[in-house]
Amino acid sequence: MARESTLRFGAQTDEMTSLLRIVNMVRTGEAATRPEIGRVTGLGRGVVTQRVDHAIEMGYLADGEFGPSSGGRAPRTLRFRGDAGRIVVCALGALHIHVGVALLDGDVVDQEHSPWDIARGPAETLDKALSMIDEVLARTPDVPVWGIGVGLPGPVDFDSGRPVAPPIMPGWNGFDVRRRFEQRYDAPVWVDNDVNLLTFGERARRDDDRLDLIYCKIGSGIGAGLLSHGRIHRGVNGAAGDIGHVRVRDSDALCRCGKVGCLEAVAGGWAMIRDALAEIEAGATGVLTTAVADGEELTPELISIAAENGDALAIRLVQRSARVVGESIAALVNMFNPSVIVIGGAMAGAGELLLAEVRQRVYELSLPLATRDLTIAQSVNDRREPLRGGVEMVREQLFEVTFPRWFSDGRPSVVAIRGALEAVA
Ligand SMILES: [Zn+2]
Repeated sequence: MARESTLRFGAQTDEMTSLLRIVNMVRTGEAATRPEIGRVTGLGRGVVTQRVDHAIEMGYLADGEFGPSSGGRAPRTLRFRGDAGRIVVCALGALHIHVGVALLDGDVVDQEHSPWDIARGPAETLDKALSMIDEVLARTPDVPVWGIGVGLPGPVDFDSGRPVAPPIMPGWNGFDVRRRFEQRYDAPVWVDNDVNLLTFGERARRDDDRLDLIYCKIGSGIGAGLLSHGRIHRGVNGAAGDIGHVRVRDSDALCRCGKVGCLEAVAGGWAMIRDALAEIEAGATGVLTTAVADGEELTPELISIAAENGDALAIRLVQRSARVVGESIAALVNMFNPSVIVIGGAMAGAGELLLAEVRQRVYELSLPLATRDLTIAQSVNDRREPLRGGVEMVREQLFEVTFPRWFSDGRPSVVAIRGALEAVA
């Protein structure tokens, strides 16, 4: 089937190419009327009319309102059929599952959230995630699923959709996450690292497709997403941006990855909890000591809130972490020269206290040219960000990467996107 559609596509290359282009122009807002399409593409009026009719017939475009008139008859605007299909996102965290459904134009229209320990393993965790997705999909059962995005809190091989030796996900190494979703929903699935999803979310929010940005997530662990001229940089195996396990100076702290002196073993949320407990043991007093005495479990959130409220121990911990993180980010700034650094994750709740320290280290240690146009900002810290980011990732895969493979079928399919052989293998 994939072969047949390739042949059909091959036989009408010129027509298909301009059709694809026109659908994407309307989808992205580059052109909204037939005369505009003619101006941008240089195609004649008759050809444009024919192509647009074809795109409407295939279900990609529809006629919209009448646009502003430029003297003569007002041209009718076109709109992309964002309601023709929907995109499902499943964002797994270390301690929660968040699922959402969006229209093809990117708006998240429904969601479900549940606390969950990812260490329960892939079988049980995905059963739970799939039942949550079923529940959300059942609320609007008539719209087909066009694509699914999955985010995992660990390194992911993007091509195969499998996690690779994730430190906090026992039992997940090499698990075929994609297949579970593909079999259930018969739709193409892309699996990515959770920080990459957050990075896509920033790109969508800033609406800048040429952004050079580093998203640094400081939660229990530490990771980064890299946006190079608007494109996610995943590296050859999907390991790019995994700065949590880069070695820092003067540390012999044992990391949960098994190595010694990693950034997150010094500055990650779990390391701060370790240090807080040691200081409390040694007699430190304050909010955190009281919390522990009351039987509360220390979390990165708790420490960041205590720091923001002025607790001396929490402030010390946050500042120490921020200084070390700032050093690692400074090295990235020299190498990568981004225009924006976004600090997110549970520790970002400490706000200006954390940012000020990171800024100071970055400006101290980076080259002047690399920081001339640099902004360091806090993330919006909205729980829905991974969902928005997942939708953005799937939209990119559907309409910018794989569109020619399934366009002539009218909607995406696993077979058209992955190839018939791989789909049945
Ligand atoms: Zn490590």
